[in-house]
Amino acid sequence: MKPVKAYAAQAADKPLAPFSIERREPGADDVEIKILFCGVCHSDIHTARGEWGGTIYPVVPGHEIVGKVTRVGQNVTKFKEGDTVGVGCFVDSCMHCANCENDLEQYCKNGNTQTYNSQSQDKQTITQGGYSSHIVVTQHFVLSVSDKLPLEKVAPLLCAGITTYSPLRHWGVKAGDKVAVVGLGGLGHMAVKLAASMGAEVTMLSRSKSKEKDASELGAHHFRLTTEKDTMTELADSFNFIIDTVSAPHDYNEYMNLLTTDGVMVLLGAPPEPTSVAAFPFIFNRRSLVGSLVGGIKETQEMLDYCAEHNITSDVEVIGIDKINEAYERTLAGDVHYRFVIDMATL
Ligand code: NAP
Ligand code: ZN
Repeated sequence: MKPVKAYAAQAADKPLAPFSIERREPGADDVEIKILFCGVCHSDIHTARGEWGGTIYPVVPGHEIVGKVTRVGQNVTKFKEGDTVGVGCFVDSCMHCANCENDLEQYCKNGNTQTYNSQSQDKQTITQGGYSSHIVVTQHFVLSVSDKLPLEKVAPLLCAGITTYSPLRHWGVKAGDKVAVVGLGGLGHMAVKLAASMGAEVTMLSRSKSKEKDASELGAHHFRLTTEKDTMTELADSFNFIIDTVSAPHDYNEYMNLLTTDGVMVLLGAPPEPTSVAAFPFIFNRRSLVGSLVGGIKETQEMLDYCAEHNITSDVEVIGIDKINEAYERTLAGDVHYRFVIDMATL
């Protein structure tokens, strides 16, 4: 075991503060990574503040990790010292259930191991995330990152990127489709970029008038305020696909009538409180309300390669780790453009 520097929340109502954690010595299949940048996902905030329940304190959040390989175990063939790599939301899974065998480790039937606040597969330890100097991860869950793109802008692809890429691919969004993105934050801005890159006609649905110009620069073709009275009636029957990234409770029913026949609305945002939905908007027009969790490892590599090829990265504001609590407050206030990324050299 090796002590490494980190930032942790000690309780739901406590700010994050410096903390020391232990990382295991790399085993035969392990890759040890020096973390260069870590993105700040709204899930980090939900977890640090205990909003979903089940947070085990102290917790070190962070699952948008980019860094350099420092050591590898003897069985590691995919990576060598000095390689640029990424780690996303999962660091292990059972590897033998039907979902793991189909490259859907995020839906591991035996319970996968998330990057933080999660039980390791050996059932001995609780994982700690990327707000730390180093992490040790089994090679299957480590991604190759191209050195072509600025690494601080690549880090958010490991969660915000794959979480929006995966449903666009799974539900077969293609050129000419009309796609709406609800909520312009970390996930929302990647959804706009990725859907536009696939040739979709993208409408941004936001409650923030101040984000209109940014939405257009990110690639959205239209922008509508959800707070304006006529928006929902004027946009009825407009979209093949709606991507909902809103982190706070809101009424899904309002969006169902915006879908065309056979339209699909995918929930990515994970508000802590449940919302009830009415049957009729689904029955008429055969609409679907679905959800999606991040993406599997194979698809995450495909997404990273796609982004490198198409020059797609996240719009980031790089911060020192001492600004993390401020960044949480600004994210909660919707003042994020469009992902905070921690420069780990400041740890
Ligand atoms: P974020 O950067 O904070 O963006 C969320 C956006 O939602 C805000 O910028 C805002 O956009 C909108 N919003 C926030 N509060 C709202 C409210 N009260 N009413 C209406 N709109 C509101 O968060 P994020 O990192 O993108 O994460 C978004 C959600 O996805 C979180 O719940 C997170 O836990 C979840 N998530 C899910 C997965 C998955 O696998 N499904 C993966 C990662 C994250 P506007 O100002 O444009 O309205
Ligand atoms: Zn995330």
